[in-house]
Amino acid sequence: MRKKIVAGNWKMNNDKAETSALIKGLKRSIKKLPLKNTRVIIAPSYLSLSSAVKKTKDTPIEVAAQNMHQAKSGAYTGEISADMLKSIGVKTVIIGHSERREYFCETDELLAAKLDAVLANDMEAIFCFGEKLEERKKEDHLLEVGSQLKNSLFHLKPADFKSIILAYEPVWAIGTGETASPEQAQEMHAFVRTVIGKKFGLEVADSVSILYGGSVKPANAEEIFSKPDVDGGLIGGAALQVEDFTAIIKAI
Ligand code: PEP
Repeated sequence: MRKKIVAGNWKMNNDKAETSALIKGLKRSIKKLPLKNTRVIIAPSYLSLSSAVKKTKDTPIEVAAQNMHQAKSGAYTGEISADMLKSIGVKTVIIGHSERREYFCETDELLAAKLDAVLANDMEAIFCFGEKLEERKKEDHLLEVGSQLKNSLFHLKPADFKSIILAYEPVWAIGTGETASPEQAQEMHAFVRTVIGKKFGLEVADSVSILYGGSVKPANAEEIFSKPDVDGGLIGGAALQVEDFTAIIKAI
């Protein structure tokens, strides 16, 4: 059975005290939930990762990084390596978020190299992809996503997908309050599963979790999560509130 996953991307939000308060609240509210087949992941800023790992020890909450450099070490001012993350107990990392693609010029090729670094270090990636509004309007969304998947994933081996979570995030729905309809999400997720199946085999396609991200809120989570190829969500804004994030986890 595919894992259900709810992951919160905190982006550049929450200082030390706010991180502590949010984790404290989440621990309290999550304790009451029957999580069964569901993973709960939070991705605080680099500064808060170490304390988040300590604060979530012995709880169901896992901690992920929002980004990682592909090199082992060296003269890359401001960057963080796989070894650094592993040394504080972080094994999951978001790769290819649209904000990294757009504001930090991360290309499909660079993301392929980052995925290689994640896998070479026995870590796990939440790999994000999605089309922009112009591409959706031109009805090129499947073409665009197919190309992002091909460019960043097609050099991998089927076994690598044990360490990869996919996250479809239409750029036009991120932080905009606009959500893909459950039908639009399902269409894309089914397409992605078909693309993965054709390249890596049905077993891989059937077992890889595909998350939806883009203005998921308590009010729309249940309907989106009810679609057969949607295995959970990557949540931005709503992950910053205990009540909202908890309600989204409950909706899965
Ligand atoms: C995100 O940044 O991954 C995201 C989905 O943000 P939001 O939920 O705020 O749209």
